[in-house]
Amino acid sequence: MNKTENHRKVNHQPDASQTRLQNVPTNTMSFPDQIGNYQRNIGLPDGKFKDSKVYIVGSGIAGLSSAYYFIREGQIPAENITFLEQLNIEGGSLDGSGNAETGYIIRGGREMDFTYENFWDMFQDIPALELPKPYSVLDEYRIVNDNDRNHSKARLIHNKGEIKDFSKFALNKKDQLVVMKLLLAKKEDLDDLTIEDWFSQTFLESNFWWFWRTMFAFENWQSLLELKLYFHRFLHAIDGLNDLSSLVFPKYNQYDTFVVPLRKHLQELGVK
Ligand SMILES: Cc1cc2nc3c(=O)[nH]c(=O)nc-3n(C[C@H](O)[C@H](O)[C@H](O)COP(=O)(O)OP(=O)(O)OC[C@H]3O[C@@H](n4cnc5c(N)ncnc54)[C@H](O)[C@@H]3O)c2cc1C
Repeated sequence: MNKTENHRKVNHQPDASQTRLQNVPTNTMSFPDQIGNYQRNIGLPDGKFKDSKVYIVGSGIAGLSSAYYFIREGQIPAENITFLEQLNIEGGSLDGSGNAETGYIIRGGREMDFTYENFWDMFQDIPALELPKPYSVLDEYRIVNDNDRNHSKARLIHNKGEIKDFSKFALNKKDQLVVMKLLLAKKEDLDDLTIEDWFSQTFLESNFWWFWRTMFAFENWQSLLELKLYFHRFLHAIDGLNDLSSLVFPKYNQYDTFVVPLRKHLQELGVK
């Protein structure tokens, strides 16, 4: 690629990051971040991409789902899509090995919630791992979580095994306001700031911060902007922070629950 004359001449249009989104007569499209049923349309085929060849580097969830969307939205023939994966297994970070009888080994479980819009949009089209047709991975997931609600009786433990009182966030008024200030701050004003640059010691020792940082794996020296983005992304989960009831989890590891059925679906369509 480096050696061809087309290097760095890729046309990335339409590039949503370059467009100021607004409701004006010239823009009749829905905004890319407003995912919903209106986005589940199939456009009229214009044949524009029927001869396109797509090579996807990496078969993590980003690569696998882009193959799905190339087929569904781009109407690119599945057999024109090829994965280039350095490992001998798909799924990337969504790893996991083992089985329900002898146990699983995974690097991390996946906390997920109801608002993973693209993710559930895709998985309502992917046939379920275990249930027969017409069940989808989404149906299978809902059945598990609706019938076995997630909830922890011992969200925080201290003093060598004692359950910590987690009934309150224990954030004083000043610290609550500093959270609001972060939510209202402009992204560009937060460059190079860490979490501990912004928050007081009382915040960093509060139950709220323990709940948040142990749920999303934050260290105090890490990026304040990243924290702001997580606040915006998961604010609706706040009342379930102290017992994890705002989260849903897969039945098996993420590899078996998501990667296996998605890979099977793409392969059956003809993706290589
Ligand atoms: C321990 C852990 C816990 C997590 N917990 C959660 C959670 O609770 N909830 C949540 O929503 N998210 C969680 N995440 C994040 C989420 O799992 C990842 O953001 C997501 O899986 C990343 O997918 P990806 O496809 O972008 O990248 P990856 O999964 O990293 O996939 C990239 C793929 O590309 C391949 N690759 C890379 N370079 C090349 C190359 N040059 N040539 C060929 N192949 C290449 C890699 O081998 C890999 O298969 C967690 C992540 C980790 C690691």
